[in-house]
Amino acid sequence: MDVKKEIGVSKIMGSKTDTYRNFPMVPRVVFGQGSFNQLGEILLPKRKHSEAPFIFLVDDVFEGTKLIERIPLIFNDQIIFVSAEEEPKTSQVDALVQKIRNGYEELPSGIVGIGGGTLLDLAKAVAIMLTNKGSSAAYQGWDLVQKPSIYHVGIPTISGTGAEVSRTTVLLGPEKKLGINSDYTTFDQVVLDPDLIQGVSKEQWFYTGMDCFIHCIESLNGTYLNAFSQSYGEKALELCKEVYLGELSPEDSRDKLMMASWHGGMSIAYSQVGVAHAMSYGLGYLLGVKHGIGNCLVFQYLEEFYPEGVKLFNEMREKQGIVLPIGICKNLSDQEFDTMIEVAMGMEPLWENALGKDWRKTITPEKLRSIYEKI
Ligand code: NAD
Ligand code: ZN
Repeated sequence: MDVKKEIGVSKIMGSKTDTYRNFPMVPRVVFGQGSFNQLGEILLPKRKHSEAPFIFLVDDVFEGTKLIERIPLIFNDQIIFVSAEEEPKTSQVDALVQKIRNGYEELPSGIVGIGGGTLLDLAKAVAIMLTNKGSSAAYQGWDLVQKPSIYHVGIPTISGTGAEVSRTTVLLGPEKKLGINSDYTTFDQVVLDPDLIQGVSKEQWFYTGMDCFIHCIESLNGTYLNAFSQSYGEKALELCKEVYLGELSPEDSRDKLMMASWHGGMSIAYSQVGVAHAMSYGLGYLLGVKHGIGNCLVFQYLEEFYPEGVKLFNEMREKQGIVLPIGICKNLSDQEFDTMIEVAMGMEPLWENALGKDWRKTITPEKLRSIYEKI
């Protein structure tokens, strides 16, 4: 297996026949406070006919709020509320696809995801699976999707993951936690309305925002870095510093965090994440620890790999008065530690990005266990 090709790395280093990946980008984006009001106008030309609805997958945290009244429903459009308590699963995607197929004779005109990374990923996966056969679990991997997805729109209500720009949708399947990475995953339209991220709790704002910060640190310190990734990563890092260490007005802070997330996502599109993400996957797989907080729990102990980044992280955490939970791995058995270590070490491209081809010389099961034990 050609790992570099698998993960979409830009260039096979040192090879005389370099091939560069041709990445899709989000073709349309609207940015600005209140831009959500333009959604009806944006969707109108994409409506196939009155029998082909738009399906809105919406985080259930918004149920009964004013935002729901602003969703431009017409004809037989439908809102489906989904909980973001747990990260998306392949079985959940399959059930949503079945529900939509059973409810309508025709394929919908499109899917609109409104929420954080969880809802955005679900929307992407459902849009793909409405045109592709079988279970979504069969498409976890790289470039396994055969047919173009239906039109899909992403509207983030919390910022940091970069899911609004990425060509992946991370799903927990029966066998693995892995994304559907494909050219058809990327949204056709994104609406970036910074007003929508207003209601997020301070802790969640920090954890999801730190996902962006960690994307930057891992991308900028990785061996896969190129000028494309660097240009986005540096901008995102600068914006994160302004948001979490500066004295911005709430409006500026929301605008800038939204753009940080976008640039952070663009930065990893052409590189990879690193140590914190690999180890956070282990925590997520075994204990269901969510992506943002999992990254923070690991990252605080990675001064050996990212000294400057960890210093900055601690400054941000202190300034924002965030206290991370402790004792998460306290009562785990040897077998449970081994499971997390196995999942983490299985993320080869992430380690290779972080530490180069010889990463196994530095990263041993003992080393990972010593870090997990601190969490
Ligand atoms: P999330 O979607 O899991 O939401 C976190 C919490 O915030 C939830 O309780 C949610 O209800 C709440 N919330 C969201 N918006 C809110 C608002 N405006 N007001 C009040 N509460 C609000 O959070 P996330 O951190 O954005 O997403 C994490 C998910 O993203 C994980 O499943 C992870 O795997 C995925 N992810 C995907 C990518 C990608 O490229 N596809 C990248 C990184 C992470
Ligand atoms: Zn991440």
